[in-house]
Amino acid sequence: MSKLEDIVSLCKRRGFIFPGSDVYGGMAGTWDFGPLGVMLKRNITNLWWHYWVDQRDDMYGIDAAIIMNPRTWRASGHTDTFNDPLIECKECHSRFRADKLGDNMNEGVTTEEFLAKRIKCPNCGKFNWDEIKSFNMMFETHVGAVSDENSVAYLRPETAQGIFTNFKNVVDTIYPDLPFGLAQQGKAFRNEISPRDFILRDRECSQMEIEYFVKPAEGMKRFEELLAATHTFLEETMGLPENLIHDLEVPEEDRSFYSKRTVDVEFDYPNGREELMGIAYRTDYDLSNIQRESGKNMEYRDKITGETFIPHVIEPSIGVERLFLAVLTSAYLEDEDRIVLRLPENLAPYKYCVSPLLKNKPELVAKAREVYQKLKDKYTFVTWDDSGNIGKRYKKQDEIGTPKCVVIDFDSLEDDSVTVRDRDTTEQTRVKISEL
Ligand SMILES: [Zn+2]
Repeated sequence: MSKLEDIVSLCKRRGFIFPGSDVYGGMAGTWDFGPLGVMLKRNITNLWWHYWVDQRDDMYGIDAAIIMNPRTWRASGHTDTFNDPLIECKECHSRFRADKLGDNMNEGVTTEEFLAKRIKCPNCGKFNWDEIKSFNMMFETHVGAVSDENSVAYLRPETAQGIFTNFKNVVDTIYPDLPFGLAQQGKAFRNEISPRDFILRDRECSQMEIEYFVKPAEGMKRFEELLAATHTFLEETMGLPENLIHDLEVPEEDRSFYSKRTVDVEFDYPNGREELMGIAYRTDYDLSNIQRESGKNMEYRDKITGETFIPHVIEPSIGVERLFLAVLTSAYLEDEDRIVLRLPENLAPYKYCVSPLLKNKPELVAKAREVYQKLKDKYTFVTWDDSGNIGKRYKKQDEIGTPKCVVIDFDSLEDDSVTVRDRDTTEQTRVKISEL
């Protein structure tokens, strides 16, 4: 199993992910995607969209605003309950998430329970804690020119509410039959007290969420279908090994009171098993809340029977960064003489790398340019590399996951063939240019 620090190091070295605001010493809990990271991230998000939306007849897209009416978060419960237990050391004034300082504590930990554990401040080593306070994780901002309590707004803590609040707009404009889903990709923000674990727990993240609206009587069946489709997506489209993925059936006492079933799909990351995504059967909780808060009717009218009801909802929700790290973890391989990212071909930033054997031989460079352009026209994601020697080029392409390296040598000028080197086997074969 790879180590997290090896992956972090590769990400920085090869331009996948940099610490946010690096030049100014960083900004805790933020990360920037570099040129290679953007390509991989876009492949992941595009394939998700293709799988869940484009290929299906029952899914539609939404792209809602990040700043929403604050009543959204009152109705959803975020204003009251999107809290973490915050504890402060009275000696050094460091602040921590109480439930993460020791074992066997959850978000509802009380000050008494916490103090009984006799945990010392990780910063100064003293034992002198203040009371646990509820810390709301929404990022607050002000909208308009006046900053007072009436202008408070929040950066959305999840993308889901942008979908729910558009349910009626969609039903009234495109008249979808049940069941149907609305999908959204976008940024979400949570003011984590102590961001950590690289991109797993950051303050700004990208989510891909679906709200799948169903007839109440069909809920459990549709849940099974979405769970099965989720596994196909993770294992076949994303190439995650089946043995690293685990379904955790969340027991009733740990589920939200409105949820009829929740499965946390977990993944074996380098630093342990962690949630990769969740599928929650949320019943009519969200639409009912919106109906109550807004006073607008959220019912759906069945086109055949004329019956009206609030649909139930099943929500598959995944964080892009979590999936990104799962993909890297699965692909990363370090053996005696090289590091290689064995990314599935549909995810690899570049499909081919083209280079002339020697960069100071104009006839080789000209021929290589010709091959490069041909492949670029055909596959788009093709890179050119004439730096250093061939060995160094292979090393670099292995680390960024390029499946095939094409080298043009003197024989190529005679026989119109090139050497194709395979990333995974390192085998080299002679291939006609016309057959690439
Ligand atoms: Zn302290």
